Amino acid sequence: MTAQLMDGASLADETFAQIAEGTAELLAVAGRRPCLVTVLVGDDPSSHVYVRMKVNRSGKVGIESRRIDLPQATTTAELVAVLKELSDDRSVDGILLQHPVPAHIDERAAFEAIDPSKDVDGVTRTSFARMAFGEPGFHSATPGGILRLLDRYDVALAGVRAVVVGRSPILGRPIGMLLLARDSTVTFCHSKTGDLADAVRDADIVIAAVGRPKLIRGDWIKPGAVVVDAGYNAGNVGDVEFAAAATRAKLITPVPGGVGPMTIAVLLDQTLDAARNHHQLGQ
Ligand code: NAP
Repeated sequence: MTAQLMDGASLADETFAQIAEGTAELLAVAGRRPCLVTVLVGDDPSSHVYVRMKVNRSGKVGIESRRIDLPQATTTAELVAVLKELSDDRSVDGILLQHPVPAHIDERAAFEAIDPSKDVDGVTRTSFARMAFGEPGFHSATPGGILRLLDRYDVALAGVRAVVVGRSPILGRPIGMLLLARDSTVTFCHSKTGDLADAVRDADIVIAAVGRPKLIRGDWIKPGAVVVDAGYNAGNVGDVEFAAAATRAKLITPVPGGVGPMTIAVLLDQTLDAARNHHQLGQ
């Protein structure tokens, strides 16, 4: 392996320490802690694990977390009603709807029920538009984490070719927009892309955001490229063929310990920001 690892776990720990300082300060000034509500619909075991990790980490950094578990049979209207109530609740600073939600629910309608000032996971259209225009607002948590990781390792973004594999509203599209806002030349690839290998071979930065184990072969990686693997598949395997890619890349994220911890760090950092904003607005 010749690549340097991009250590998301360490950067996340640094961010958690800063958040803990921030929450203590807010408690001293405003007499309250930031409050994050996580909403989970159904019984997906991985989603339960993710929510537990977020709740545990919230407690460690001084963020009050409340958890709402809804049954699998919850309708879109019922979920929207819960999210609207939380949006109106002045004691709540951030709302996280754990996704994916069960297939019968209109996920977009549910996301849009979250007030943008509490959209600390960056899933609403408003947050997406602000991010795309480079305006202040909440980033999609995983893309925001990827950007912080790239910045920590001083990866030059302006003028370089970035290839994003995946175009989901919470991951592929927003990381592409963040890179575009930083002057990368961005190509999106997806399930209908016919020449994935060629596109990746051309990339100075590869962002893998698919959810298919080892889809991106190591020998596609341009020597000296930066490889960020957001994919997380059964058996702790990413979307990139790690060992082979690491012999060619300059920088590469491990799975786990790369992008995953940064997602939680951004979520909680943005919850602190939301609480500060609400306090300044007298809410
Ligand atoms: P998603 O909504 O299922 O989107 C997957 C994307 O991959 C789609 O845009 C799809 O294209 C594309 N795709 C599927 N097969 C492909 C192929 N053969 N070649 C090229 N593109 C292909 O998934 P997601 O929510 O974005 O998540 C993607 C991965 O990231 C998953 O492994 C997930 O677990 C992981 N993830 C990690 C974190 C974290 O915190 N580390 C957070 C979120 C997600 P179409 O649009 O054409 O269907």
